[in-house]
Amino acid sequence: MSQNYTINHVQSGNYINGEWVQGKGESFSVKNPSDLSETIGDVAFSTVDQVKDAEEAARGALNSWKNLTGSARGQYLYKMAAALEENLQTLATLASKEMGKPISEMKGEVTRGIQLLNYYASEGVRSEGDVIPSASEKVLQYTKKVPLGVVALITPWNFPVAIPIWKLAPALICGNTIIWKPAENNALISSKLCEVFEKAGLPNGVLNMVIGSGKEAGAYLTEKAKINGLSFTGSTATGSTIAAACAQRNIKFQTEMGGKNAAIVLNDADLKKSIPPIVSGAFRSAGQKCTATSRIIVEEGIYDQFIAELKEEMTDVKLGPALAEESYLGPVASKDQYEKVQGYVDLAHKEAEVIFENQDKIASDGYYIHPLIVTGIESDHPLFKEEIFGPVAVVIKVKNYDEAVALLNDTEYGLSASIFTNDLNKAHRFLDDADIGMVRVNLETAGVEYQAPFGGMKQSSSHTREQGQAALDFYTSTKTCAVHY
Ligand code: NAD
Repeated sequence: MSQNYTINHVQSGNYINGEWVQGKGESFSVKNPSDLSETIGDVAFSTVDQVKDAEEAARGALNSWKNLTGSARGQYLYKMAAALEENLQTLATLASKEMGKPISEMKGEVTRGIQLLNYYASEGVRSEGDVIPSASEKVLQYTKKVPLGVVALITPWNFPVAIPIWKLAPALICGNTIIWKPAENNALISSKLCEVFEKAGLPNGVLNMVIGSGKEAGAYLTEKAKINGLSFTGSTATGSTIAAACAQRNIKFQTEMGGKNAAIVLNDADLKKSIPPIVSGAFRSAGQKCTATSRIIVEEGIYDQFIAELKEEMTDVKLGPALAEESYLGPVASKDQYEKVQGYVDLAHKEAEVIFENQDKIASDGYYIHPLIVTGIESDHPLFKEEIFGPVAVVIKVKNYDEAVALLNDTEYGLSASIFTNDLNKAHRFLDDADIGMVRVNLETAGVEYQAPFGGMKQSSSHTREQGQAALDFYTSTKTCAVHY
C-alpha cells in the first residue's frame, strides 16, 4: 500500500541571515526517481555572491552565539528536535520523493535526527576540559574548549536528514555558526528542513544554508571563504581535493568518505541470524550507504548452505516505489547514479556469475536497479574493489579465517566490517586484525549508534570521528589556561 501524503510542488530556497532568498544561478526541475512522470519541485542554485552573503551572516552572528551559555544554546537544539518531531511525516515523505529512499527508512532517519539534536542539546550543560596540576605554587592550570568559529558543512545526498544533523547539532552546541551546503539533489528536503528549524527561533545568521553546486558553491567554501573549520561527507575523490585545499589554508577539516565494506561468514556462523543483517546491509537504501555490505566473504565449509539460504531470504526483498510500505528498497537516487550502477550490473553480467537477480515488475518508470548477487570473480576485479553504491553484492569463497581477513583488508577503504561467528576467540582476533574504523560481530556493517564515534581508516576518512563525544572534539579548539593567585 502506498502512503498518500500530499507534498505540493516544492521550491528550493536559500536560508541566509534568517531570511529566505531565491537562488540566482542555474535552475531546474526535480523528478521523483520512483516515478519519472512526476515533477515534485523546482531548484535554483546560488551564485557565489549569495554564498558570500551566507559567509558574512555567519561571521556577523558568531560573537553573540558563542557568548551564550551552553545551556541557552541547548534550549534551541531541544526546540529544533521538537520541530522535527512535529514534521516527521512531511520531511520523510518529501525526502522519499526526492531521492527514492523507502518511507520507513526515511522515518528512521528523521528519528535519528531528533535523537542527535536531543543528545547534543544536553551537552550544553556537561563538564568540559580538565584541571591539570601545576608544578608552580598557587597556579590553577586548566583547559577549556572553545568553538572553531564559522564552519562550513558539505553533505552528500544519501542521508539527507541524518548526516546534516550529525554535523550541525554538535557544531551549534559548541558555539560555532554555520554555512551548510547540501548535495545538489537534496535541495528540496534541505530547504524544508531549514523551514522546520526556523520554528526553533535560532538567532539570525547562526544557521545558513545555500543550495548550490559542488564545483561552484562547494569550491568557493573550500578554497576561498573565511571559514575556521570544514566538515565534509561524500566521495573519496571529492574529499581528497577538499582535504588538500583545507590543509593548504590551515583550516581544521574532517572528510568522511567512501567504503567497500565486507561481512565475513565463518563455518560456525548461525545462518538464520546472520543472513538478515547481511541482506539488509547490502540492499536497504538500494545499497547507497557508505557502510553498505558490498562484499560477502564466506568460509568454504558453509558456502553452499549460505548461498542456498541467502537466495531464499532474497525472495522477500521487494523492489518498488519509495512510498509503498512493502518496498524493501526503492530506486537509486538519480540518473547519474542509475547510469553508474547499471554499468556495474552490465559488467557483472559479462564477467561474473549471477547467482540472484530480482525479477519484480515495477508499474512506474523510475531509476530502478534490480538487486543482484554475483560470484565467480577474483579479488582484484572492479566489482570486488570499487565502491558500487548500488544494490549489488559480491560473494567470494575462502579457505579459512586468515584468508578472509587478508581479503577484507585488501582494499583502499577502511570504513566498516562485520564477522559472523560463534567463535569468541576469532571474533576478538577480527576486532584486532581488521584495518577498519567500525568493526562489528554478528551485526550488520551499517547501524553504528548516534552516541558512538563514526568514521573510517585508510581512504575512508581523514581519521577524525563524527557523532558521540568525538564530534565535540572536532568542532572545538583547546585553550590551555593558567591563573596565578
Ligand atoms: P560527492 O563527493 O559527489 O558530493 C558530496 C558533496 O560534495 C556534495 O554536496 C557536492 O556538491 C560537494 N562537492 C562536489 N564537488 C565539490 C568540490 N570540488 N568542492 C566542494 N564541494 C564539492 O558525493 P555524493 O555522491 O554526494 O555521496 C556519495 C558518497 O558519499 C559515497 O562515496 C559514499 O560512500 C560517501 N558517504 C560517506 C559517508 C561516511 O560517513 N563515510 C556517509 C555517506 C556517504
